[in-house]
Amino acid sequence: MEKIISYIDSNKDKYVEELKEFLKIPSVSTNPENREDVRKCAEFVKSELKAIGLENIKIYETPGHPIVYGDWLKAGEDKPTILIYGHYDVQPVDPLNLWTNPPFEPTIRNGNIYARGSADDKGQVFIHMKSIQAHMVNNGSLPVNIKFLIEGEEEIGSVNLDNFISSNKELLKCDNVVVSDSAMFDYDVPSICYGLRGLAYMQVEVTGPNRDLHSGSFGGAVNNPINALAHIIAKLKDDKGKILIDGFYDDVLPLTEKEREEFKKLPFDEKKYKEGLEINELFGEEGYSTLERASARPTLDCNGIWGGFQGEGAKTILPSKAGAKISMRLVPNQEPEKIEKLFTDFVNKIAPASVKVKVTSLHGGKGAITPIDSPAIDAAVEALRKGFGKVPLFTREGGSIPVVNTFQTLLEADTILLGFGLPDENAHSPDEHLNLSNFQRGILSIAHYLNELSKIKK
Ligand SMILES: [Zn+2]
Repeated sequence: MEKIISYIDSNKDKYVEELKEFLKIPSVSTNPENREDVRKCAEFVKSELKAIGLENIKIYETPGHPIVYGDWLKAGEDKPTILIYGHYDVQPVDPLNLWTNPPFEPTIRNGNIYARGSADDKGQVFIHMKSIQAHMVNNGSLPVNIKFLIEGEEEIGSVNLDNFISSNKELLKCDNVVVSDSAMFDYDVPSICYGLRGLAYMQVEVTGPNRDLHSGSFGGAVNNPINALAHIIAKLKDDKGKILIDGFYDDVLPLTEKEREEFKKLPFDEKKYKEGLEINELFGEEGYSTLERASARPTLDCNGIWGGFQGEGAKTILPSKAGAKISMRLVPNQEPEKIEKLFTDFVNKIAPASVKVKVTSLHGGKGAITPIDSPAIDAAVEALRKGFGKVPLFTREGGSIPVVNTFQTLLEADTILLGFGLPDENAHSPDEHLNLSNFQRGILSIAHYLNELSKIKK
């Protein structure tokens, strides 16, 4: 590894110059006028994969933007096969006037590189490319088998990716997936994200009388759908944040002792957190810390609510209809379909007979988890320790990354999320940037990771 480490060190400036070329391409996937740029960017990825020594490189057409694939499978069957997933498309740049430098003219300031796509996700894709190149240049081979899957539609919901994966299962077959498309916990706090939450998103519509009524003539005699809906919502959770739907917690995977220990190690400043949100007190399920509540416990939140008169002034009606959007963040092991049914049954059970209630499921997805005592996670711990000179911490993500589920379901492979961005690097916002020290330490970490993975006995 010494040769590789010093090679990465001595190419520091060159990496940044090369990354700039990638960042200059305005591959905004949602803009029809950037269609050719997105293709140009796919071509750029293809030529990079070739330059770093991968084989079987191909641009796969989809009904939308192309997917780029490349691999190197000569490490032998006794070595693990790692699928690296990322994306080369970027978010739109508006509002343009809030950018300090033009978004597709990469600029270095204060040890960061500023450009759209620097953190999300071109810079992080580049980290993987350069660490692979460092192995290839110095050893003429890689310590493990590598497959690269870089798509161009992540920012528009990966609309054609599931289809591609399901029709190319053999091509993408692997032992583990690595995704670098997120943030580490903080600067100098390298972290490994090993779990994601799932989702069940519901809509509740309550109908009372067949038309809006005069609240003076009918109020008191006819149930008001808004009041009825408010009662229903209030009964979904107690005042300490516990969800009251029958059976809701039955399948929840409890946090292990080790996981809870790991959560405690994360440097989290609750006071700063509250100040940043301008709230006096936090609220959540009893017996769990804020970080646990926000990433490893299930939730139920009303996302929107409507009904009745919303205009200026007063209008005295008893409305005919009311509705709400309610989302539940699920944890691994909870099945969205089962939760949707439990929710529907519970709402129907508690709904008063004086109104009609319609419950619809809008969309859902499963959570995912990679056990923190698995060999691939051990290898990541060792790699980040060597790359950053610090023992990494474990985190779980409160949101969802649907493709991680697809990998789990279709490829039966666990995903490890090794993010090298920072939470405040403005992904999706003006002045997006990537810290160049993390970029460099990322390259070093992934180079170590490939080496550590090769020690896993298959
Ligand atoms: Zn991304």
